[in-house]
Amino acid sequence: MRKLIAGNWKMNGLMADVAQIEAIAAAVAPHSGVDTALCLPATLIGPAAQKVPSMVIGGQDCHMSVSGAHTGCVSAAMLKDAGAAVTIVGHSERRAAQHESDADIRGKALAAKAAGLSAIVCVGETEAERDAGSAVAVVLSQLDGSLPDEAASAWLAVAYEPVWAIGTGRIPSVEDVAEMHGAIRANLEARFGADGSAVRILYGGSMNGDNAAGLLAIPNVDGGLIGGASLGAEKFLPIVAAAAVGG
Ligand code: PEP
Repeated sequence: MRKLIAGNWKMNGLMADVAQIEAIAAAVAPHSGVDTALCLPATLIGPAAQKVPSMVIGGQDCHMSVSGAHTGCVSAAMLKDAGAAVTIVGHSERRAAQHESDADIRGKALAAKAAGLSAIVCVGETEAERDAGSAVAVVLSQLDGSLPDEAASAWLAVAYEPVWAIGTGRIPSVEDVAEMHGAIRANLEARFGADGSAVRILYGGSMNGDNAAGLLAIPNVDGGLIGGASLGAEKFLPIVAAAAVGG
């Protein structure tokens, strides 16, 4: 399976940073065996898509409705219209701060599909849930609730992102990542058959140039969702290079 390395810029980036997106696109271009994407703030999607057409550009969220009275929200069709090909839905920062439920996220994933976007659906346990021994049960429950019945490898990726690993510099053990990704794969195959075998399962949470090769070598780790280390070419490129070697 081709690996996917997707950056999540979160609420970072001004118009001047389109130059950095150009630099990232130039840096990753030689690694044609790896799929790459940058999920940007909504304000940068149009400018980046126009200035850097070689880079796959994504959003970080979308509304579940096509249009309407939703002040401040962005629809999947708007992302697509601005030049996005993919969007993240269900990031833990939105699940927590915007109180998004699994049902909300399922609606957003369906809206992305209807607009012709791919979706990266995020799941992940808190530290308290891992300490309580319920990490796998929590993540599989999120998966069951967040993935629509129409899930298919052509438009869907799942990102396993332990909440306690995001932006902290801490990562789970190889054994814990292998257990979780194996459990997610088994869940996808039980629900979606052969398509479940082909859905890419990304790992996210403090992935960087030093730990990427080890994480990407774990069975059923089909790529990464990268926050902090996606903001500049010098940190993003080593992750893409590790995916190219491992793939
Ligand atoms: C993220 O928020 O999706 C993420 C993986 O962040 P970081 O790489 O900074 O931990």
